[in-house]
Amino acid sequence: MSDKEVKMPYKVTHLAGRCRTGNDLVGQITHAINGDVAICGKKPNGKSSGWSVWEDNELTCPKCLLKIKRLEAK
Ligand SMILES: [Zn+2]
Repeated sequence: MSDKEVKMPYKVTHLAGRCRTGNDLVGQITHAINGDVAICGKKPNGKSSGWSVWEDNELTCPKCLLKIKRLEAK
């Protein structure tokens, strides 16, 4: 049996530090992160900001979406 399904574990979140109301996600791009780096390659810059601890429901980064689509199409 070689039914090997590789599902990339990722978490949908956004970079913290810009939007402090926590409620307004308009204009905020969410990425699918795996560890510290988004799967599109986006990284938090510097130590002052990082990924939000809150998970988002919707992934809006086009690059991340494309990568996930490709991964799932395999
Ligand atoms: Zn992304």
